[in-house]
Amino acid sequence: MSPVPDPIPFSNTYARLPETFHVRLDPDPVPAPSLIELNHDLCRELGIDPLSLTPEVWAQVFAGNRVLPGSEPLAMAYAGHQFGHFVPRLGDGRAILLGEVVDVRGQRRDIQLKGSGRTPFSRGGDGRAALGPVLREYLVSEAMHALGIPSTRALAAVSTGEPVLRETVLPGAVLTRVAASHVRVGTFQYFAMRGDRAALGQLADHVADRHYPWTREADQPGLALLEAIVEAQARLVALWMGVGFIHGVMNTDNMAVSGQTIDFGPCAFMDVYHPDQVFSAIDSRGRYAYANQPAMAQWNLARLAETLLPLIGSDENQALESATDLVNSFSERFARHWIDVMGLKLGLSTADKGDIALIQGLLQAMQQGQADFTLCFRHLCDAAEDEGQDEPVRRLFTQPEAFDAWARQWRSRLRREGAMSPGARAARMRRINPACIPRNHRVEQVIAAAVEAGDFGPFRRLLKVARNPWALAEDDQAYARPPDPAERVYQTFCG
Ligand code: AMP
Ligand code: MG
Ligand code: MG
Repeated sequence: MSPVPDPIPFSNTYARLPETFHVRLDPDPVPAPSLIELNHDLCRELGIDPLSLTPEVWAQVFAGNRVLPGSEPLAMAYAGHQFGHFVPRLGDGRAILLGEVVDVRGQRRDIQLKGSGRTPFSRGGDGRAALGPVLREYLVSEAMHALGIPSTRALAAVSTGEPVLRETVLPGAVLTRVAASHVRVGTFQYFAMRGDRAALGQLADHVADRHYPWTREADQPGLALLEAIVEAQARLVALWMGVGFIHGVMNTDNMAVSGQTIDFGPCAFMDVYHPDQVFSAIDSRGRYAYANQPAMAQWNLARLAETLLPLIGSDENQALESATDLVNSFSERFARHWIDVMGLKLGLSTADKGDIALIQGLLQAMQQGQADFTLCFRHLCDAAEDEGQDEPVRRLFTQPEAFDAWARQWRSRLRREGAMSPGARAARMRRINPACIPRNHRVEQVIAAAVEAGDFGPFRRLLKVARNPWALAEDDQAYARPPDPAERVYQTFCG
């Protein structure tokens, strides 16, 4: 008889790194775990049979009440620049890495609880998460993945039966997230600050093996690793810009070196386009405003580069020069990805000198005309198919003539593209311009229903919509609608 396989086939590597990398501890049990959601598709992708345990037992597992065989729970150590200020010791104050699995495609993935109790890194915090932010992260991370944007995923959400104290008393919850890894820019900073050259080398090797194995064979592995991370971030932030995503807390401890979007706190998608848009209640100076995101990513990468200098060659000046060049190359790399993304959104498949001006022309008209970001690009797909279909996009602008003037340039540019038929072009545009993103007011509505009435129906329905962003079912058309003035959300909060 073959032995019963473990419910989660853990195979851990981070736990094998030296003691300075982590603190081993079990999650703190909660009084009444109850499963809100289990991501069956993601379970299967991870080699987990979602039916191998009952919902009651999964609730125990993803609340942290039951530690499964093979799990080696730990809190990771890291530092970070928070809004520009360096904090030498942050670490997982409310997260516990349960372990790693190798997924069905051979990719190693972390499984981590968030909201699982205090750790030695908790400082003043309670180690817990409120239900609202757990649902927000669940929805937005799954939406990002569906939009084709590298992101951590949500595997499960569990309510704890334990209230948490924020401004008010709120129901508590635990989110289980899955990441390519949880190594952050701040993880490198933690060891650099301590002058632990050996640990830096081990961390760099770990990251290279997991995410960028080809850099191991390079002449200068440290430099090649930096280049890979710079490139991954340039692409990631360009993809964010393409869907109007504002991360909200791009601190160095919230930037994963894997190139995945991580730590969904006060994040949000824009409704009306404005480059200075900020939602986060704690970002009073707009450091992480929409249009600042590329510059902030580059700033974070400069901090990463500083930590890698000891790993780059033997000549200090040469190392500094090469690393500086790479950090500077972010601008060009970002611009290349941004033009690709925005060009595809406009239906372009070739490159032309005037494309940047064309893209910026639309964005300026959108800003002046207070056009809705998602709807503008979505309705543009119809306009690309048929000039008679301009009206829905025109109506989004307070001065539709500004759109008309831009559309004339756009159409003359499309004509120079040649080959592709309008129908084929529109179809392709509908695969990069989503019909729907989880709008802020919708997210707030589903959170209110869950928190105030214990009703998770609206959450599940929005999750279903967010997972199919390229087309909306007839019954779901209302999810495309921007907020009414009374529904509009002006600020979002951390959890
Ligand atoms: P964040 O703003 O979520 O990226 O968190 C920044 C730091 O604060 C990290 O070290 C977190 O682990 C920690 N932290 C955030 N919320 C809590 C909490 N409720 N209890 C303990 N630590 C927390
Ligand atoms: Mg964080
Ligand atoms: Mg966090």
